[in-house]
Amino acid sequence: MKITRIAAYQVDLPLHEGSYKWSGGKSVEVFDSTVVRVETDEGVVGHGEVCPLGPFYLPAYAKGARTGIAELAPHILGEDPTQLERLNRLMDAALLGHPYVKSAIDMACWDILGKVAGLPICTLLGGRYGEDFVLYRAISQESPDEMAAKVAGYRSEGYRRFQLKVGSDPESDIERIRAVRSVLEPGDVLVADANTGWLKHEAARVVRGVRDVDVYIEQPCATYEECLSIRRRTDHPFVLDENIDGIPILLRGQADQAMDVVNIKISKFGGLTRARQARDLCVSLGIAMTIEDSWGGDIITAAIAHLAHSTPPEFVFTATDFNSYVTVSIAEGAPQRQHGRMAASQAAGLGVSPLMDVLGEPVVDIV
Ligand code: MG
Repeated sequence: MKITRIAAYQVDLPLHEGSYKWSGGKSVEVFDSTVVRVETDEGVVGHGEVCPLGPFYLPAYAKGARTGIAELAPHILGEDPTQLERLNRLMDAALLGHPYVKSAIDMACWDILGKVAGLPICTLLGGRYGEDFVLYRAISQESPDEMAAKVAGYRSEGYRRFQLKVGSDPESDIERIRAVRSVLEPGDVLVADANTGWLKHEAARVVRGVRDVDVYIEQPCATYEECLSIRRRTDHPFVLDENIDGIPILLRGQADQAMDVVNIKISKFGGLTRARQARDLCVSLGIAMTIEDSWGGDIITAAIAHLAHSTPPEFVFTATDFNSYVTVSIAEGAPQRQHGRMAASQAAGLGVSPLMDVLGEPVVDIV
């Protein structure tokens, strides 16, 4: 089987809540997502998606994804999309770095592999554990009372795990954490995600100010070393996200005992192939994971579902249903949240059919 065409489509994904705000005053109102379509000489077609969290979250931006796909596509035309490790090595040889550019192509080729095999991707990633898996809800940064009210609302919809966007001034963040914990029940999980927004002295004040609260601390500071410093002066369970982008930093974090949980975002690692490698290593090392992506619509949500559903449940700290945050559907067959949980499709491949009238004309088309 050979790749004969790679096309990319741009799609806007507005948010139900109007905007999503996190540390440092950063916010997004409409997500700029890119859908990739990979066609083959045997008529099998696969789709992938990449959607950065704006241009200022990770070193990734939406126009860069599309420019990178146009750069990379000619190098893999004629290659076999079902040989995923080999294909990723070819992509790395043609374009150094830029993992998010490769993510949607890799995802589309997994979709093709699944269709050729007649199996859902979660089976190919290791197997399906149980009926479904647990989700969290991200809570945009607002006043403490507004965030507590949002958490109470989403709790009534079935969510039991919440990730607060903090990373503001320490006094307000301590209030946010306390206000939200007060509306939760025993067994509910609360994560305070600073998204690199605190300096060390600020993070030190927050972890001391909530010492009596049952809360996880996620990515307090910008660098791994700063986070490790905070990790060593708190007994809160500790999550690393932005700094964890490959196997070497996972191994370093394990050697330093720098975290209890890591966040596996598919595009941060460069696609399902590399995210699976990281996932499997975390299982071997005893590290739980949040399985998700930077953002996305129905196609990314489907990919997250396959990776999460094929992960042993005790290692799925949480996962994300991004398609329930946005107002636009871009594919049929995508998984839908049920009472704070979700399941991967039983259909072959990703199990989604893109709505081509929503995607419109391709903005990249390489044949
Ligand atoms: Mg995070």
